[in-house]
Amino acid sequence: MIKVVKFGGSSLASAKQMAKVGAIIHEDPDRRYVVPSAPGRRFSDDTKVTDMLYRCYDAAAAGEVIDDKLDAIRARYQEIIEGLGLNFSLDEEFEVIRDYFKRRAGRDYAASRGEYLNGLVLANYLGFRFIDAKDVILFDSRGNFDAESTDAVLHERLRNLDNAVIPGFYGAMPDGSIKTFSRGGSDITGSIIARAVRANVYENWTDVSGCLVTDPHLVDNPETIETITYRELRELSYMGASVLHEDAIFPVRSEAIPINIRNTNRPGDPGTMIVESTVRSPKHVITGVAGRKGFCAINIDKAMMNSEIGFGRRVLQVFEENRISFEHTPSGIDTFSVLVHQEEFADKEQDVIAGLHRAVNPDNIYLETDLALIAIVGRGMRNAQGTAGRLFSALAGAGVNIKMIDQGSSELNIIIGVRDEDFERSIRAIYKEFITSGR
Ligand code: ASP
Repeated sequence: MIKVVKFGGSSLASAKQMAKVGAIIHEDPDRRYVVPSAPGRRFSDDTKVTDMLYRCYDAAAAGEVIDDKLDAIRARYQEIIEGLGLNFSLDEEFEVIRDYFKRRAGRDYAASRGEYLNGLVLANYLGFRFIDAKDVILFDSRGNFDAESTDAVLHERLRNLDNAVIPGFYGAMPDGSIKTFSRGGSDITGSIIARAVRANVYENWTDVSGCLVTDPHLVDNPETIETITYRELRELSYMGASVLHEDAIFPVRSEAIPINIRNTNRPGDPGTMIVESTVRSPKHVITGVAGRKGFCAINIDKAMMNSEIGFGRRVLQVFEENRISFEHTPSGIDTFSVLVHQEEFADKEQDVIAGLHRAVNPDNIYLETDLALIAIVGRGMRNAQGTAGRLFSALAGAGVNIKMIDQGSSELNIIIGVRDEDFERSIRAIYKEFITSGR
């Protein structure tokens, strides 16, 4: 068995956290390849080392003195090194960093040092081999991640190593300059490594015990999802539920390697398994419910629109020309609606309305603002009868008026539109109906 384990910033923010990480890794010899983030927040208004590095570099680039800022970063690592009782110094590394900052090595270089230094510390603490991500995570000369070359190089490099620490978040371009993924990108590195070593599982350790059925700000103590498919997760994260960087799914998904979200502070919890497909029946009919506010609908009426060939295309073309992406297009007899992000639409509304008049000569256009979209997601809905009925009566019982309904043909989700002000109430009613009632 091979396990790739990635630890997030809060799991590595202090010596105490790092010691928990050490215990988790040593407890299971299959945990051979380790991907650390940079030290994150130790308490709620703490600053992540990555942010400290960006600020420090920006100050250096503006020609300011950076001694204090660099010392504060060094102190974060020193606290960990001393707390763990390591006989190890990063002094030389900090001299190199100071020099590279002076020579304007770039913001990506700066940010990547958070993971790089944490990788050195963790490798020393674990007694594992350190591999610099710049040698194994490869970007092309335009800065795009080069999946195939990376896989070949990594596979070769790790094949004969019993264990290794490979820092997350960055790699290098052909000229050697450092390039990072977008924020939270250590998740992606972990996934790339899991693919390269053909891992049996990619464990992603964080500070929650997995994906929750819904947002804990809306429902007290929501249940943890035991097993979720990649597709379900994608639907939920699109609607704002996030535990993992979106791009982290692709490398492991192509090899059908499961991801296990785990909690460093509660290592006994099984966490959530994210899988390609499963025969395990879900615990509840719905796997999760998530949503977002701030949408508006542009409703277009025109008698006999169904016989007008190209009507829908001409409508959507107006949105395209105004560079607005649409979320949904529910339609009825003689009506066609386009749902968009209100913020994106607001600046361009008059142009869009005029464009629609020119394009399709409608009888009437009316706008509906302040809508929220809620996605009820679950592979269990496919075979369950009456899901929509339960959903609608639960919402009716909560006094919510449903403005829009859209069920994808996959039967994996139902999307409903409600007024922004009904959003929280709707989520609670859905949770109660499908989860608290226990089916
Ligand atoms: N340290 C980086 C960030 O704060 C990457 C990561 O933690 O995944 O975004």
